[in-house]
Amino acid sequence: MNRPDLTYNTVTELAAGLAAKQFSALELTDALLARIAATQPTLNAFVSTDPDGARVAAKAADAALAKGEGGPLTGIPIAHKDLYMTEGLRTTCSSKMLEHFVAPYDGHVVTLLKQAGTVLLGKTAMDEFAMGSTNETSFFGPVRNPWQLDCVPGGSSGGAAAAVAAGLAPAATGSDSGGSIRQPSSFCGVTGIKPTYGICSRYGMVAFASSLDQAGPIARSAEDCALLLTAMAGYDARDATSLPHPKEDYRRALAKPATAKPLDGVRIGLPEAFFGDGVDASVVAAVEAALTELRALGAVTVPVTLPNIGYSVPTYHVLAPAEASSNLSRFDGVRYGHRAARYNDLLDMYRKTRAEGFGDEVKRRILVGTYVLSHGYYDAYYLKAQKVRRLIANDYRAAFEQCDVILGPTVPTTAPRLGAQTQDLIKMYLNDIFTIGANLAGIPAMSVPCGFDPNGLPIGLQLQGPYFSEAQLLNVAHRFQQATDWHQRTPKEMCHA
Ligand code: GLN
Repeated sequence: MNRPDLTYNTVTELAAGLAAKQFSALELTDALLARIAATQPTLNAFVSTDPDGARVAAKAADAALAKGEGGPLTGIPIAHKDLYMTEGLRTTCSSKMLEHFVAPYDGHVVTLLKQAGTVLLGKTAMDEFAMGSTNETSFFGPVRNPWQLDCVPGGSSGGAAAAVAAGLAPAATGSDSGGSIRQPSSFCGVTGIKPTYGICSRYGMVAFASSLDQAGPIARSAEDCALLLTAMAGYDARDATSLPHPKEDYRRALAKPATAKPLDGVRIGLPEAFFGDGVDASVVAAVEAALTELRALGAVTVPVTLPNIGYSVPTYHVLAPAEASSNLSRFDGVRYGHRAARYNDLLDMYRKTRAEGFGDEVKRRILVGTYVLSHGYYDAYYLKAQKVRRLIANDYRAAFEQCDVILGPTVPTTAPRLGAQTQDLIKMYLNDIFTIGANLAGIPAMSVPCGFDPNGLPIGLQLQGPYFSEAQLLNVAHRFQQATDWHQRTPKEMCHA
């Protein structure tokens, strides 16, 4: 095996290089820290880095590896989305409100990945409080798409997806409430999975919409996502919605040797709604080519219907802001975060603090959320949306009686140019049409690179499955990646400052 170049390698390749002593965790960490620093002025993928902490962790990993004590993630550098609490390293949610906030504890996912021996490089930029689809709502300025610097990386985990795509970290955590792992993975040509709701603990993850938020990994392959998810998942009594689901090894199906038809017997459901008007021709063509590939691997396709999926975006934009308006009421200038410098009385302090600390998109969501929860509108909006949410979950349940996996595009388009979508918010919201259903139903879903548009921007394929079908989704994605090389392409246009 050649020595990996330490940038565009997968976690699996890097782990093999570490085990073979081709390089140390410290060398790998230093190489990536240098790359992050060099690309920061152009990409802006990180909010904070932790060079000293990363080197300490890398040396500890090297010591463990030398004693033969390492696991599959020992010494692997990663980055966390800046909504995971990291003790001693600031957690901003890309908001002025938390610009200087340093958490006194680690989130559960952070602890699990630390225990697995990973090295934390830093925290990635996101849309403010995970509200957005372009990373332009960040207080620290937009992140750029490594494939084309005048395009957005997607959001809200845009910094994470851009970092993985640009070879700044082999893997990163994201969070997904309506598509925030899958949509930026699609726009940046990387692989990301949102697991079943409740699989990963939300303890120590700043809440946006608690009944929709899920943690998950973004990486360069399905195999790496399986490795990361295996470490991240697990019951945690500190999150009331954490599921007492037995610990799984999500790589178990992937390890089976490749046969000519590894997907024999897998039924792929194709909802008409995912292939209708409004999807870019290049996206349709890439998804259809992927279907041809999957059929060649043994899968069969069946038509399915999701009759209420068209209501998913409006349903989400009632429920998510309602939960956000409640969750974000804790940012009042009293206990932590920004506090206005000058005010007359307590109420004035609340008002000024929140007016100064939150950006426009966050304020819009708080206003909408407060409105739909208010007396007189609760039944008409919030309660109605809860009922439609159940109908959408029932649609999925019925569809999964006919198929094992649902397939379609992750997003109807490729990455838009910076500034293009903030002009038309309704259009931006509607672009989440294919991802939001999985959050409303709580089912697992992932995005897998499957091609490029005529401008060289990546296209993502989405796989959705029934509850707890992560291993199956990852296996379908892995077999597809064994037969194709879309996930191995790297951005050429990326500038090195
Ligand atoms: N783009 C969606 C929104 O704007 C989803 C965000 C998310 O998943 N956190 O809310």
